Amino acid sequence: SENRRPFRGGGLFAPFPSGGGWRKARAGSSLFLPLVLYCLSWMNSTISPRRHGGKKGKTMKFTEMPYTRPDLEKIKADSTRLLERIQSASSAQEQIDAYLAYEELSKEIGTNFSLAYARHTIDTRDEFYEKESDYLDEIGPALQEMGQKIDLALLGSKFRPQLEERFGTLLFTNLEISVRCMKPEIMELMQEENKLTSEYQKLYASAMVEWRGETLPLPKLGPFLQDPDRAVRKAAYEVRGRWFEERREQLDELYDKLVKNRTAQGRAMGYENYIPLGYDRLGRNCWGPKECAAFRGQIAADLVPVVARVKDDQAKRIGVDSLKIYDDLLLFPDGNAKPQGSPDDILAAGKEMYHELSPETKEFIDFLYDGELLDVLSKEGKAPGGYCTSFDLYKAPFIFSNFNGTSGDVDVLTHEAGHAFAFYRAARKGYLSSLMSPTMEGCETHSMSMEFLTAPWHEKFFGPVTRKYEIGHCEDSLIFIPYGCMVDEFQHIMYEKPELTPEQRNQTWLELEKKYRPWIDYEDLPSYSRGARWQQQTHIYMSPFYYIDYCMAQTMAHQFWLASMTDREAAWKKYLAFVDQGGTKTFEDLVTGAGMKLPYEAGCIKEIGAAISKWIDENPL
Ligand code: ZN
Repeated sequence: SENRRPFRGGGLFAPFPSGGGWRKARAGSSLFLPLVLYCLSWMNSTISPRRHGGKKGKTMKFTEMPYTRPDLEKIKADSTRLLERIQSASSAQEQIDAYLAYEELSKEIGTNFSLAYARHTIDTRDEFYEKESDYLDEIGPALQEMGQKIDLALLGSKFRPQLEERFGTLLFTNLEISVRCMKPEIMELMQEENKLTSEYQKLYASAMVEWRGETLPLPKLGPFLQDPDRAVRKAAYEVRGRWFEERREQLDELYDKLVKNRTAQGRAMGYENYIPLGYDRLGRNCWGPKECAAFRGQIAADLVPVVARVKDDQAKRIGVDSLKIYDDLLLFPDGNAKPQGSPDDILAAGKEMYHELSPETKEFIDFLYDGELLDVLSKEGKAPGGYCTSFDLYKAPFIFSNFNGTSGDVDVLTHEAGHAFAFYRAARKGYLSSLMSPTMEGCETHSMSMEFLTAPWHEKFFGPVTRKYEIGHCEDSLIFIPYGCMVDEFQHIMYEKPELTPEQRNQTWLELEKKYRPWIDYEDLPSYSRGARWQQQTHIYMSPFYYIDYCMAQTMAHQFWLASMTDREAAWKKYLAFVDQGGTKTFEDLVTGAGMKLPYEAGCIKEIGAAISKWIDENPL
């Protein structure tokens, strides 16, 4: 099911920790190779009411937003001046003013970063933005260093009580986490880590396979993995598996180096292994490995049986005696539900949907469309994949995608638009940049819940196949969770025991399959059958521990969905309140504040599993 989820691991407002850091990451999913800027401080900031562009009431269009190359020397001088003002402030107010001025500077730089990356991905042949992207890559580390100095100055402030009063204590929790993420001694290891992840990514991105006499990029094999003809599906899996089998040693070696590198980083930061550092780098500020393990335990005990039943239904539906791995993605005998109509029809339906859903979404979607803040059609020269980013000077979110005629096109308007909506709301609340978006399970709660809260309007996209879509969407959301937990537990084991051999790593994967997906049968497919399927999961190499966030968010989305079935209006209000708090609260506080259950709270999953089972029973195809 993970293959069907292009936007998972795609771009989002990924709030890496930091009041001043920036981080650029490539999208996590194998299907997604464009640059995604994960850049909090330099992207998101909304303190000043300064107006930009256009007359009142007229939205500035994306194409009219001016790009100016950030001048590193000038930025250095400006931030040094602001740093000195923060350090030498003789009153809390002076310090706050200097910090807010720094935020303004960040916002400007961040907007230019986002503009350059967005325009580069829209047309990778455009030499101007290609050069600008390279330049921005180059100056990134220097900006990060400046950011960290500001963070440290704030942390050491003698006016901390007044600052906490003004900005809240969570800012300081986040800053503390952020400064724990690196020190000069590990810079070299970090550079090596970057090189290794780039190597993996390049290898994966260059993957070409022979298919029916043609040479295809690996992602193009995707549709054949779920072909209604079983022999075709099996052949596609074989071809895919063989590509990984042939690079077995290289993939093993890359991972081994990454685990050892990260372990060395963790130890240099004073830990026994990489795990605490890995959590810090995801900015996790309210739950740790213990809660995470409790969540996975509930999934194994209470959700795996529900999913096993869903898989049983699937086998009956597609007419096979027992499911094999190559049946995994085919939920319906005649293929999965596709949206009806042209891309223009989909866009028009999206607008209607948000107009009807609520006054808040109406305002948002009009802003998005009037500003032409979506680039969703496939074009020559356009980077693959999809993401959502923002231009903070204009409080404008931006959605990038490549429509391809599958239900993924609708996800752009339900899932990605959920991220964009959250940014749109938070940007108008005046939060500090580092408090704009919550940690990642919170951000994904925004988007994944929107997928369900828009359910009454899915008919606009799917017409006669709406029921099929709804069932597929529900099943898919369930099937994904045990897989995600497996990816997470696998990584915990890998970093707890960095000395494992490639063979032992594969063995671990196979044991986890039995725990989380006992219905999976790899037969004798190359790579798969010896337990190396994990090498296809880019997050395992590139974004350690970032995956369970999707699983937790999925259970939150389920709760919003179930709530909306009893009282749509009340569920929407809760959702809006959740979104409107941005990142000013921890995930835990956001969830309990909305009167929902924490995913790792005992009994949470059992309740969700029972309610969804009931929905499945009551909603046959
Ligand atoms: Zn997302």
